[in-house]
Amino acid sequence: MSPTDTLPQNMHGMTSEEIVDLTRRLNYGTWRFQKSWNPVHIADAEDCYIIDGAGKRYLDFSSQLMCVNLGHKNPVVVESIAQQARELPYAMPGYATATRAELSKLLLEVLPEGINKFFFTTSGTEANEAAFKIARMYTGKSKIIARYRSYHGSTSGSIAATGDPRRWAMEPGGKGPGVVFGPEVNCYRCPMKHTYPQCGVACADYIEHMIRNESDVAAVLLEPIVGTNGVLVPPDEYFPKLRKICDENGVLMIADEVMTGWGRTGKWFAVEHWGVTPDILVTAKGITSAYVPLGLCATSEKIGDFFLDHYFAHGHTYEAHPMTLAPAVATIHEMQRLNLVDRAAELAPYVESKLRALKEKHRSIGEVRGKGLFWAVDLVKNRETKEPFNTYTDKVSGAPLLVDQIAGKMFADGVAIQAWVSHFVIAPPLIVTKEELDRGIDALDKHLSLADEKCV
Ligand code: PMP
Repeated sequence: MSPTDTLPQNMHGMTSEEIVDLTRRLNYGTWRFQKSWNPVHIADAEDCYIIDGAGKRYLDFSSQLMCVNLGHKNPVVVESIAQQARELPYAMPGYATATRAELSKLLLEVLPEGINKFFFTTSGTEANEAAFKIARMYTGKSKIIARYRSYHGSTSGSIAATGDPRRWAMEPGGKGPGVVFGPEVNCYRCPMKHTYPQCGVACADYIEHMIRNESDVAAVLLEPIVGTNGVLVPPDEYFPKLRKICDENGVLMIADEVMTGWGRTGKWFAVEHWGVTPDILVTAKGITSAYVPLGLCATSEKIGDFFLDHYFAHGHTYEAHPMTLAPAVATIHEMQRLNLVDRAAELAPYVESKLRALKEKHRSIGEVRGKGLFWAVDLVKNRETKEPFNTYTDKVSGAPLLVDQIAGKMFADGVAIQAWVSHFVIAPPLIVTKEELDRGIDALDKHLSLADEKCV
């Protein structure tokens, strides 16, 4: 008997309706009211497409959760998983494995220079938790400065450091101590009501003001380009300025590159756009193109050296799990072979010009912004007031969101796009073609009239 003969075949005997029914009844649908969860059965995927149970293909215009950077079912990555399972499915993290050694060596090639000590987790959330603990152990200080309009994960520590209102919906006590919030960098809707460049990037200066007045600050935590909260691209001065502030005040900089890493913005990591090296870089998602769950907390050598004679009080059973590391090796090789980081940078002007033209045509678009293959289309009721169609309060109260309605229409037309509160995220796999970009943007174009007619 071959091993495949003994595999359970139950899934294949079910209809899409049965699969959806079991999923809804027996699982939690996340970040939502359970009653409203009516998931589509996805049965297959390839390249830039996901395929439903009836065989209908959808252009994956946001790479699922901005994570399938290589596109679906890359054969080299798929094979690396099978090969690792045959070779060594698991060894506890205290042992040395060839897979971890190989990946660590490769990471030195792609991470910013000076980031060279690695702790592997199984999610971005856990990688952030590791970063916070490392920063606190290293500095002996307790506070993390995070920003409003940020997302860093869903567990107690990382949700406590999350600025957006998802934090409010946490269980009692979940807001957590040890985090203080500063202003986001958001030139379109500046929380300080300033205008760039006359502001002199005052939002960075305010972080310095916080460091000096809070005391006991271990680290400043930043998404280089804010992801779920709107693809907010900072002005060029922001990161160099904050790097200087962190250095002058003896505070660590943690860059959360969970969404912005792995070529998404046209560089391996977004901090490279501004020539800044953080003390700790956190990433996940694109590291394996999402084929297996892997996160990474990577630190400077100086931080690594500290733990030579200090107890490293952290670890997981599944840390550095060989099955998660092998596909990361394959992903890096594939990204290099296909030259995907440059490809994302080269396609950026094309996407930008298409989106700018879309903005000319639709009065419901307040702003388009992004870098590489990572763009937001921000919808507003009125360009003067910049008032969005919906807010987070609508979302957490279960009110229907206009962007979801538009995304639903696009899905029916065969384009899957992420819609968040009042913006869309355009972030296709980095293998996307110009024709596929056209198709996705055309689908948005077709249905934006729904928003235009609601403008005031
Ligand atoms: N940080 C950022 C910037 C993210 O975008 C996310 C996920 N969207 C996370 C952390 C959490 O990662 P994960 O979902 O893998 O736990």
